[in-house]
Amino acid sequence: MPFYAQCANCGHEFESRLINFGPGVPAIRMTVGSVAETCPRCGGRARTMEGQFNMDSQGRVDVLSGPQWTRDLVVRMTPAQARKIHTVATWAEAELAKPDVDEERVRERIDQVVERNAPVLKKFLDVMLSQRAGTLYQLLAFILTVVVLFAPQLGGGEPVPDPGITEDQMRDLFEQYFAPETDSDTPTPPNPGPEAPTPEPPPTKAG
Ligand SMILES: [Zn+2]
Repeated sequence: MPFYAQCANCGHEFESRLINFGPGVPAIRMTVGSVAETCPRCGGRARTMEGQFNMDSQGRVDVLSGPQWTRDLVVRMTPAQARKIHTVATWAEAELAKPDVDEERVRERIDQVVERNAPVLKKFLDVMLSQRAGTLYQLLAFILTVVVLFAPQLGGGEPVPDPGITEDQMRDLFEQYFAPETDSDTPTPPNPGPEAPTPEPPPTKAG
């Protein structure tokens, strides 16, 4: 994922322009603390993520340790980001239904959009893709479930102010989706858990 910053004034979250390395850098472990930059939206003072990070040769970082707000920046997904992921996942589902589908292309496209918009999902994606732990359909089901938890309106529900899922819950969900069980030919999506909002719109009540 890229390095993120968060504006203390308007709350805007964006990719840091101070800590921003492209491909071709040496992979290192780095510690970052108290770096401030200007918010591109309001001109206010923004802080970049703090803590210890691993950076790979592509300039992508992983949080090793850091304060909660830094970890939250990684887990969070804005409605616009959730929409982009929802769009690519539904596109991918349609592509996979075609007889001459280029699975590699579909996989790469999902990977790109997820890395750009939901670094926390990217982690799970990498695990799944590297271990060949499941099918692309399972991956899409997982992605769509997580996206709807962040932005229930995409599934026809009411928007929520905060992310409806934590990283730990996401890990549980991931394990449910990709548990190495091959008893059934038609894997059924697991229950997202008691805390998860339902994708269905609530029944309308008079009054
Ligand atoms: Zn701002």
